[in-house]
Amino acid sequence: MPDPSKDAVISIEARSAESRDPRISDLAKPGTVYLAGAGPGDPGLLTLLTLRLLETADVILPDDLVSDEVLALATSATRQHPPQIIYVGKRCGQPRITQAGIHDLMLEHASACKSVLRLKSGDPLVFGRAAEEIAFLTEHNLPFEIVPGITAAFAVAAALKTPLTDRSSASKLIFATAHHARRANGEPVKIELTPKWQGAFPPDATLVVYMPGRRFRQLAEELIAAGLPPATPCVAVSKASTPLEHIHRATLATLSDDAVGPAPVILLIGDAIQPAQ
Ligand code: SAH
Repeated sequence: MPDPSKDAVISIEARSAESRDPRISDLAKPGTVYLAGAGPGDPGLLTLLTLRLLETADVILPDDLVSDEVLALATSATRQHPPQIIYVGKRCGQPRITQAGIHDLMLEHASACKSVLRLKSGDPLVFGRAAEEIAFLTEHNLPFEIVPGITAAFAVAAALKTPLTDRSSASKLIFATAHHARRANGEPVKIELTPKWQGAFPPDATLVVYMPGRRFRQLAEELIAAGLPPATPCVAVSKASTPLEHIHRATLATLSDDAVGPAPVILLIGDAIQPAQ
């Protein structure tokens, strides 16, 4: 007698293999560049696709915020050849490689038929300088794919167990940065965007500030001057999703430079963010 429960298992497996996103079964392809998101730090927050690319890419170009725990997955026991990992962020006191230098590395290795994993923290399309790299890859006719990742804001919301939107207090979600790139001698340079805060935030929004800098008190004062009530709740989360995660809850009136943990820090502001205990 055939065991009907076994048949059911087989057909479920067959169906899931057919319906699976075909890219997930791909190994990193020779000559292709992958702009992929490494998530906020915790390897558990990687996508399966990025994990497969970590395990199979020939060359890996990680940003400085990509965690060591994530990169450790690149040297799995099943690999025949270890990947070439070239840090393109500022690590170990080395000077930061220029954006043009990163482009050259992508071109050099992809042209040599290597698969290249350009690994960015969080999601590659959120404050990730992806536009320059997409333009370069397109201009040089290099095949490339984009693999999303979990952006820091979502990891922080999960850590705080706080929805970023709320039916009664936050119908808008704004991702902003306190910095913006301006070109000088061909290289983007970071500048503060302070004047742009004016009028930028409706009262029923949750504001997420990436790259807030270190002058939190000044930033809070600028936001108050731009019209946000001083009693607006805010929270600064440092090293979200890592064992060193640090949370400073405040209001715009009480946000303090000293109480915020080390970089990277992300700042959430708005009535949906639970007030300080
Ligand atoms: N592409 C990334 C953002 C890169 S900009 C993403 O989608 O998350 C770098 C900024 O992201 C940092 O200055 C900080 O504001 C935020 N960030 C990234 N990882 C973080 C983490 N683990 N904890 C807190 N903030 C983080």
